[in-house]
Amino acid sequence: MPIPVTTRFAPSPTGRLHLGHAYSCVLAHDYARQRGGRFLLRIEDIDPGRARPEYVAGIIEDLRWLGLSWDGEVTFQSRRLPVYAEALERLKAMGLLYPCFCTRSEIAAEIAASAAAPHGPDGPLYPGTCRNLSPETRQRRCAAGPHAWRLDVTSALARTGPLYWEDGDTEVPAEPEAFGDVVLARKDAPTSYHLAVTIDDAAQGVTDVVRGRDLYAATDIHRLLQALLGLPTPHYRHHDLLTDGEGRRLAKRSGAPTLAGLRDAGADPGALVADLRAGRLPAGYCTA
Ligand code: GLU
Repeated sequence: MPIPVTTRFAPSPTGRLHLGHAYSCVLAHDYARQRGGRFLLRIEDIDPGRARPEYVAGIIEDLRWLGLSWDGEVTFQSRRLPVYAEALERLKAMGLLYPCFCTRSEIAAEIAASAAAPHGPDGPLYPGTCRNLSPETRQRRCAAGPHAWRLDVTSALARTGPLYWEDGDTEVPAEPEAFGDVVLARKDAPTSYHLAVTIDDAAQGVTDVVRGRDLYAATDIHRLLQALLGLPTPHYRHHDLLTDGEGRRLAKRSGAPTLAGLRDAGADPGALVADLRAGRLPAGYCTA
């Protein structure tokens, strides 16, 4: 039996969905449905400070309104923390993680004081302050309070060798070192987006990750984690982001219309989905 094409929509419930989310969801949904495959809904609610139950309810309401249905139960990352913890322990046992005690302001001060602070896709790279602490210092400071865990990307890559992934038909060399030593478990959250998304795509049998181009570079880290944890690599299909008439990508902070707002204004969900399938914003929301 061939493996069924499986895609997913994986929103973080930190606000109401806007048209950009709907576009991504339609593309992932249609990719699976057109191939007789499965389309899954996963709620990425691992950030205790920002995820809210009312936004989860909003996501489900919005997708139903759009007429997009998913297969099986909704998955909640917040219910899978032991799975992520187990993977973290494996990476620790491989000697690839180190505890990091730096605060945001300490990192910022260190970067400001250094002559050449390298930058990656997410901003300045972590300067590596905690990478070389002695085992005694680590032990003492770990016992003293909460801390993050970072991946030693150089050691990890030395272990895996060069890695590649596919975006559509294009082979992409993975360059996770561009991000520096990423955080895999935060002080205040037991896992990170990178770790949870990588584990869940494998656990749910996702064959094709259809998501926005804003996550293209992060795929390099996901590929590295797959290699370290012995997980399969899905196909990636990053899509362009919808932009408004001025070329700005749709985002909550730039005032993109939420689906709830459109619904309240009497929008027709069938017409909206048809517009998104055609890669355009509904009339009235495109100023071009
Ligand atoms: N949860 C992520 C977000 O809302 C998306 C994760 C993914 O598609 O890989 O931006």
